[in-house]
Amino acid sequence: MSADAPYPLEPSAAEMHRLVEAAMARIVPHLTSLPDQRSADVAGAVDLAREISGPMPDSGRPFEQILDLLFNRAIPKTFNTAGPGYLAYIPGGGLFVAAVADLIADTANRYTGVFAAAPALAQLEADALAWLAEIAGFPKAARGFFTSGGSLANWSALVVARRERLPENFLSGTIYASDQVHHSMVKAALLAGFPPDRVREIPTDDLYRMQPERVAERIAADRAAGLTPFLIVASAGTTNTGAVDPLEAIADLAEREKLWLHIDGAYGACFLLTEAGRKAFRGLERADSLSIDPHKGLFLPYGIGALLVRDGEALRRAHAVGADYMPYLQSDPDLVDFCEISPELSKPFRGLRLWLALQLHGVQAFRDALEEKLALTHFAAEELRATPEIEILAEPQLSVIAFRHRPPGVEGEALNEWNRNLLDRINAHGRVYLSGTNLRGAFAIRICVLSFRTHRDRMEACLEDVRAAIADGGAG
Ligand SMILES: *Cc1c(COP(=O)(O)O)cnc(C)c1O
Repeated sequence: MSADAPYPLEPSAAEMHRLVEAAMARIVPHLTSLPDQRSADVAGAVDLAREISGPMPDSGRPFEQILDLLFNRAIPKTFNTAGPGYLAYIPGGGLFVAAVADLIADTANRYTGVFAAAPALAQLEADALAWLAEIAGFPKAARGFFTSGGSLANWSALVVARRERLPENFLSGTIYASDQVHHSMVKAALLAGFPPDRVREIPTDDLYRMQPERVAERIAADRAAGLTPFLIVASAGTTNTGAVDPLEAIADLAEREKLWLHIDGAYGACFLLTEAGRKAFRGLERADSLSIDPHKGLFLPYGIGALLVRDGEALRRAHAVGADYMPYLQSDPDLVDFCEISPELSKPFRGLRLWLALQLHGVQAFRDALEEKLALTHFAAEELRATPEIEILAEPQLSVIAFRHRPPGVEGEALNEWNRNLLDRINAHGRVYLSGTNLRGAFAIRICVLSFRTHRDRMEACLEDVRAAIADGGAG
């Protein structure tokens, strides 16, 4: 910032251009070189973190220096979650247009928590949510809001279910989820004030899916013990293996038992845009609420999840609290004040990211990309099946596959150790980054395909590196 400007917090027009262009001069080469960057590199990153930590500066310093720090030092020393080789955990996105949307949203800085303050902008956000509800097959009366991610969407879902189905004194309420449910659900229960044991972990079948009969048994036992079952959480794609619970049967059960049905589709629900996803998720449209993360399956940058609730009025009942100093709020049921149906008041205009991405690319581009992810996963599965001594521990239901290498004569903990080392050797090639998990005592290597930047060439590289790492282990 030039020192002679009278108000340094208000850059001139030329200065604004300079700032953005200087940032773009780093961003574009960074993005275009993503395929050649290492899939993860955190060697020395902890020392770097300590080294660059510093006191609050009293006066500013040149932007170029700061960009050097970010792009030359901090950004390279990370898991490359935006790169095509990131196949670990649940891969991140980072569509470029979303960053442009954020720039517009942040510089316009309008107030979208209250409809009256920016009616047309609040409507764009409501539209983006209505499109998600349409994808989910929810009715017109459904409402939703954007959150920072799936964890907070799950938390809000649980709080709404609690308001709708339990009395003020809710401690006898019990929640049913599979032993594969995302841990954010247990955290949500804790944050909502439930003792940890109120979340009943229901055993899964050999495909890691919740077993409705076991849920029914547990509900009956809990009722007999004087507890108050109120919520079933089904997973439309678990994080661990991409397992899809039998949604239709669980919806029947929830209906019969009059329990709230929440579906955690943070990872998987966007596959509703694909043919296979629609088939796998039959029954999802009957849920009372659904978490769906655009920062996963719609490839947006981190910081946007969504909660959809079939009866929009339930959201209002759980959240609406008035105050004298608030502006005029809507009574027209078609118009939404997000502050009345969600925990936030002031909030970022998150919806613009999704709205702009869909306006610019159209939904077909997302369908195609998601179909490509499924096809890549099936390709990987076929190749792994054809590789000697590889055992598939979880066949793909969506875009996750879990496997291990099983050399003859290696069993038990030694086999787990063998595969942990194998994972390290695969990742050491630097072309892909995979993660591991524990499947009923077996250490498994996971491949999760969800980045819009991952294509066939990268999957071939992945399989080459898996085979090479197996060969290295044999020799060593
Ligand atoms: C990622 C994930 C979450 C948590 O979402 P965040 O956006 O990381 O908070 C919840 N459930 C499932 C199934 C997930 O995959």
